[in-house]
Amino acid sequence: MCEDQLIEPSMSLAPVPARAAALLIAAAGLLAAQSPLPVKWEELTAGDFLIGVEKAQHVCLLPFGILEKHGPHLPLGTDLLDIRYIALQAAQSEYALVFPEYYFGQIFEARHEPGTIAYSARLQMDLLEETVAEMARNGCQKVLIVNGHGGNQHLLPFFAQSQLASPRDYVVYVYDGPKSVPPGRPALKTPLDYHAGEVETSGLMIARPDLVHMDRVPAESGADLKRLSLPGELYTGIWWYARFPNHYAGDASPANQELGAFDAKAEIADLVQCIRAVKADQTSLKLQREFFEKAKQPLETKQ
Ligand SMILES: [Zn+2]
Repeated sequence: MCEDQLIEPSMSLAPVPARAAALLIAAAGLLAAQSPLPVKWEELTAGDFLIGVEKAQHVCLLPFGILEKHGPHLPLGTDLLDIRYIALQAAQSEYALVFPEYYFGQIFEARHEPGTIAYSARLQMDLLEETVAEMARNGCQKVLIVNGHGGNQHLLPFFAQSQLASPRDYVVYVYDGPKSVPPGRPALKTPLDYHAGEVETSGLMIARPDLVHMDRVPAESGADLKRLSLPGELYTGIWWYARFPNHYAGDASPANQELGAFDAKAEIADLVQCIRAVKADQTSLKLQREFFEKAKQPLETKQ
């Protein structure tokens, strides 16, 4: 029996508020279904931020890119455009808050190219330190830096290690892409692929196809110039410029959406697993606290 059949004609006004309430609840439900809680930090209201940070189980992503030349055919912001696409997709699948655009990493080796923004090493560290501290102050006890830029590969582990320099009540994790490739990946057609080449160009064909200028690919060479001959044991900062002064390393001409879609799907799935692992991790924070306590009194640490 439906509700309407229970209403006497003389009581016809009485059920209206109840119905209105039911309609409102239904409408709110519909609205919620249509507008899920955003994952982008900047799109949340302050009130929704409280809901979001709980829903994220205090896990916040910091997608990290750079402004640097990407051959003759890709935009300066390629790394962040790519990695934010991955991070946003992953966070929608496994809810986490995603910090706004962050471009402030290590890129001294591209200072000779137009459009590069290369802050001092001290500012990079200070800005990152204060950014994660501010995120943590806002409930992000677990900050997961999602790196999209090869030039950050020394900076970020160093930054993570530097977290042990002083006590804090949050953990910084660094994600730098999948460690293995799932089976079924389309075969690469280029043997050398470091920067703005087949893989990265294919990736941007998924994240921002409108910004890929394939017609400009032939304008420069991404070949290894091999201008420096040193034993493999030796590292020097000019190595990249010695090999790839055009900020193009590889050959983008065989780039294709099939490869880009495969890699994006694999990386999103991998990052989802990592977000889940970070949510489940109860050990790192506990060990950090123990470590900071002991570090106050190193002479009392049992030998
Ligand atoms: Zn790049």
